[in-house]
Amino acid sequence: MPCPSRRLVYFSLEHLTPVPTLQPGDYPLHEFHGFPQTNHILSLGLRDTNDPRTLKGNGNDFVIVQTIRGSRKVTPATFTSFARTLKPDILFALPDIPYTQPPYSQKRVTKSIERTQRWLTNTLISQHTAGADTKVIPAIFGHLLGGAAHDARSAFSAGLLEPFDSKTAPSLPHLNNLDEALDGYVLDLIPIRLSLGEFGPGVAPPHPGSESSSTGTPDLPLNIPNRSQYTTLLLSSLDPLPSSKPRLITGVTAPHDILHHIVRTGIDLFDSAWVQHAADWGIALDFTFPATKGSTATKAIGHNLYDEKYALDFSRFANDLKGATELKDDGVLEDPQLLRTCPCAACSPSLVDPAAVTVDQRLPGSEPSSVEFSGSKTHAPPFTRAYLHHLLHTHEMSAHTLLALHNLSVLDLFFVGIRDVLGEDETIGDRFIAEVERFKEIYDEEGWYGPNGILEAGRTAWRNVDLARGKGRFKRERTAGGQAQQAAEVADTEAT
Ligand SMILES: [Zn+2]
Repeated sequence: MPCPSRRLVYFSLEHLTPVPTLQPGDYPLHEFHGFPQTNHILSLGLRDTNDPRTLKGNGNDFVIVQTIRGSRKVTPATFTSFARTLKPDILFALPDIPYTQPPYSQKRVTKSIERTQRWLTNTLISQHTAGADTKVIPAIFGHLLGGAAHDARSAFSAGLLEPFDSKTAPSLPHLNNLDEALDGYVLDLIPIRLSLGEFGPGVAPPHPGSESSSTGTPDLPLNIPNRSQYTTLLLSSLDPLPSSKPRLITGVTAPHDILHHIVRTGIDLFDSAWVQHAADWGIALDFTFPATKGSTATKAIGHNLYDEKYALDFSRFANDLKGATELKDDGVLEDPQLLRTCPCAACSPSLVDPAAVTVDQRLPGSEPSSVEFSGSKTHAPPFTRAYLHHLLHTHEMSAHTLLALHNLSVLDLFFVGIRDVLGEDETIGDRFIAEVERFKEIYDEEGWYGPNGILEAGRTAWRNVDLARGKGRFKRERTAGGQAQQAAEVADTEAT
């Protein structure tokens, strides 16, 4: 697949087992996952930033996380030690973000600010003390905290810029304040939405054997986000800080969110968890930026391929992106001459004729050994919506793989288009604003969100299929897994 940009991949420590730490080599996180440093920037943080499930409270020197074996405590020292061993390119500094049931008192928010800044200070001191022993010091991104309180968010940023006191300054002679140690900022929407009570009482802590803990998919709120409110909160954090450092936002759920935060909040980097969730839920994304020329009718951002209406739909996944084999108008969809090509394995499956491949089977060393692929690479026609509908309803995992590849490609091309329109200076001009407005007119946001939207329909259909398959072995495994998790959690509670 062509790589129009260098990929930034995020790993949350709570989802990793200790195995990658045993990987030999200089860069275990890269090498274990097969991501060459030339192609990928790997970042490491503690939590899945898109998981809104409530957990027990953090302490003065630990954070509660949700691992595959239940909830666990992680201390700042443990986190730093994992980071030092795994050697990511970017480390998201450990934050104290409350994931308990809201509302959060002012005292709790103040505590979270103090703890986060104390932990960062201590990490920097230990890094400085380790000095020569630390072969690679990753870039550090800091989460900007303060929940849904403007004052608290400004106070957190002001704290980053405050000169070190006389006790700390001698330990960090190369820095004047915490902000100088940060290479970028992280802004998280889920904790803000949690603080604002948007999740309502419906999101209970996960319990063993429940639907959400067995599937591992959190209950993201799927209503239209109150973006203007989030922007004023995010700007309370950003305004006091230097504008030159990259700003990464987590928790967006639609292309409309991305465009809004580029224009209004000045965000540079976005996470892609939402397109993976859409792939889990059987949704094939279908949008481009700039929106297709000549479009006037309102279009859906994606298609819930669980829906019966796709059972006999033999068109490709997206109306607004074509496959590599399509050269002329098929009379049904948009004119392919005007469309970008989706390079994913579903829209443009690549073919290598097995007959044209010769593999040298001689023992290495006996003669020069080579593996030759001759013949030109060609592409097959796109997979169809009907085929994916069939795969989804027969519980084939390949359905979700193909959708994930497609959705990530759609998002990639969306950002390629954004960069094209922004131009080399990456400045927001009249043309960009006009294209954002045209995008909002053409792509239907209301049909995406809400109780009757495509996201919710996909999630509901996926859950029904997930429940339907839990009749035989799956159900027994799930029950056994649930009991094991419950036992682990009881042991954990007793130990504390
Ligand atoms: Zn595709």
